[in-house]
Amino acid sequence: MEVSNLLKIQNYQSLLSDPEWLIEENKFDKDKINFYETIFTVGNGYLGTRGSLEEGHEAALPGTYINGVFDHYDSFVVDMVNAPAWPALSIWVDGKKLSIHNCELLEYKRKLDIRKGVLYRLTRFKDTEGNITRYESFRYASLADRHFFEVNGTVTPENYDGTIEVCSEIDGDVLNLDLTPAYKEKPAFVAEMKWLKWSKSRHLKARLTEKLEDVTYLEMETLDRPHHIGYASSLKVSVPHQLYSHTDYNKTSQRARFETKKGETVNFQKLTSIYTSRDVEKTKLKISCIDTLKSNSERNFTKRFQDHAGAWDQKWEDCDIVIDGDDAINNAVRFNIYHLLITANEFDPKANVGAKSLSGEGYRGHIFWDTEIFLLPFYTFTQPATAEALLLYRYHTKEGAREYAKEGNHKGIRYPWESADTGHEVTPEWTADGTVRIWTGERELHITSMVVYAMLTYHEVTGNLDFVVNYGAEILFETTRFWKSRLEYNKKEDRYELTNVEGPDEFHHLVNNSVYTNWTTKWSMQKAVDYYHKLKKEHPEKIGPLLKRLLLDEKEVKEWKAVAEKIYIPYEPEKKLIEEFEGYFDLEEIPITKWDENNMPVYPPGYDHDNCDTTTLIKQPDVVMLMYILPDEFDEEVKKVNYEYYEGRTMHKSSLSPSIHTIMGIETNNHEKALQYFERAAYVDLIDNQGNTGDGIHIASAGGTWQAAVNGFGGLRVKNGQLTFKPWLPQKWKGLNFKVKWQGTDLKISVSHEAIIFEWIAKTDKKLSVSVMAKEFHLEPNQKFTVPLSL
Ligand code: BGC
Ligand code: BGC
Repeated sequence: MEVSNLLKIQNYQSLLSDPEWLIEENKFDKDKINFYETIFTVGNGYLGTRGSLEEGHEAALPGTYINGVFDHYDSFVVDMVNAPAWPALSIWVDGKKLSIHNCELLEYKRKLDIRKGVLYRLTRFKDTEGNITRYESFRYASLADRHFFEVNGTVTPENYDGTIEVCSEIDGDVLNLDLTPAYKEKPAFVAEMKWLKWSKSRHLKARLTEKLEDVTYLEMETLDRPHHIGYASSLKVSVPHQLYSHTDYNKTSQRARFETKKGETVNFQKLTSIYTSRDVEKTKLKISCIDTLKSNSERNFTKRFQDHAGAWDQKWEDCDIVIDGDDAINNAVRFNIYHLLITANEFDPKANVGAKSLSGEGYRGHIFWDTEIFLLPFYTFTQPATAEALLLYRYHTKEGAREYAKEGNHKGIRYPWESADTGHEVTPEWTADGTVRIWTGERELHITSMVVYAMLTYHEVTGNLDFVVNYGAEILFETTRFWKSRLEYNKKEDRYELTNVEGPDEFHHLVNNSVYTNWTTKWSMQKAVDYYHKLKKEHPEKIGPLLKRLLLDEKEVKEWKAVAEKIYIPYEPEKKLIEEFEGYFDLEEIPITKWDENNMPVYPPGYDHDNCDTTTLIKQPDVVMLMYILPDEFDEEVKKVNYEYYEGRTMHKSSLSPSIHTIMGIETNNHEKALQYFERAAYVDLIDNQGNTGDGIHIASAGGTWQAAVNGFGGLRVKNGQLTFKPWLPQKWKGLNFKVKWQGTDLKISVSHEAIIFEWIAKTDKKLSVSVMAKEFHLEPNQKFTVPLSL
């Protein structure tokens, strides 16, 4: 076989960023396999691939998830489909496969470069014959060409001459985890057994496999959704070799065989391109895959990787956070940002981000309010195009959400608590072992106003009126119609109520008049009234067609206003302390008296996540969350009183909890607590402090960590349409630097203990008014402006 002159031996380690950008694994530990698979996920928003070893082994849980590709068929609920793994590859020496099972590992290390989005691996295998083989691989999902994926690597026989084979495959025989048996007491499984206990679901069947010169092509289709998925792949090595290509009905493989001499290093590259019928017409799948593979093959690795790393540079330019004085926490913050960057796709307005991102099957890829409240602030303030794509997903799933409202005999649009590809409710009704009924789908109504909240925040921050006119306004008005039909009129009290709901605190799964739900409903309906009048007055031609299409008139809007005014909020302002829902204060007080090694509360004896509903213990911030997302509506004392009361009762059994407790801890001068919570949020996955990182990244916590840095320590809030700052830095930190986008301009912010320095980059001769510690300042464009914090 001809040897490609594009292949060269690489010094991969010299391509990696400085150590502060690396996450390292230095030893193979079978109990940490699934943890590292999640942590080392690589992706580009189009897809995410877990960091499983290329050659496979027992206990592995590999996964490749193409954003937006869901399927149902006979699985328990709709799943984000586990698609064929593009990195699959193995090395064979004299006919024997090198694996962690049959070799001694003389050296084993991996490094995830979060600056450049690449996973580096080095393993030195000693096989049963005493042969030592050095193997390196460099794996990335290109950010410059989102349909292109590469494993570039080397093999070196260190102490022998022999025949080596590099075998690459694309295997369509992939399954999703489905259900697990119910155990009275769950056994402590050894790593090798755990996944075998689960039943699995198939979502893909083979359509076609082909050999096309030196390329193999595999096409699969989903079982009950209309997706076709194409993979073209090619393997090349840098020395003369024989290449054998095989196709089975659902897999393709290529095997390159060559003779090597002791000490000789051989380079290989496995290039893969992927398209689905979500991207191009079904008839164009193969040609799209081939073209992408060809154009990438024609350039050498250096060029391909440079383009990829360049695209990463641009991302970091907009969203890096620098914490001066604490490198470890800075690295953790950046690790969270890395995962936020690899999971969202600004080019796909019909896909979103599931609760575990594209890094695992936890929550089956479903989309929650996590996107709107935890992730969108990051994207809205640093990458508005991505934010818009994520919001458009809600617009594009609105017909399913409309049917969902109709199924409950309601009007307008009701967003599902868990969403997949259609906007219908996909929350499972039972836990995966079938033992506990899950009510969130029926009851966590607040998701609907959270969608509106995120859309209006996006408008406020970006000033993008076209988005509101073309998409947001319809959602705002139609969700208001839902609320009006869902609210229950209490004649005796002359007020509107929401009964049988569940607020963000999921320990209390059946409550009436949750303050969070009622308050945000009222807020959202009032916004609908305000926007209606404002748009009608200021942009009558733009909004006219929508009002006509929705048959929306003044009379209906007047009714919305009247109903919103009468929504019951069980809160007496003079009491300061807000009751989470009607009757909460009458519940039993069970004090938290034990904390684990991560300083997380331990359930009091006899309690767990299913039976805290008779107590005042809560799962995650609820009232405190409300005070964070609506900063204009509560004064400082109310925030402090409520933070201190509820923090003492919060079990943090959701990873969404610590970041919000950081921000509100800073806001209420509970600095020591804030700092502890920040560590819990920033390290949630790096130290696996929830114990389930193996299922996927806690991406909401990643977004919450960004918010904790910017909105917590940076003290940024948008109040009455203005950027306001009230920073606070821990003693150890010398400075905090970040950048936000505001109304199409860039604002660089640098906080120290003494001052806050702004640099506003804008093409204008106007000034930007900001508030620092409640005093107003006017920033000139393109100049540094220092505000002392001793004010
Ligand atoms: C979560 C709910 C979710 C349910 C089913 C629970 O663990 O707390 O929000 O709806 O799982 O996915
Ligand atoms: C939390 C929810 C969250 C869900 C997905 C649950 O444990 O209670 O608020 O939306 O996880 O992250």
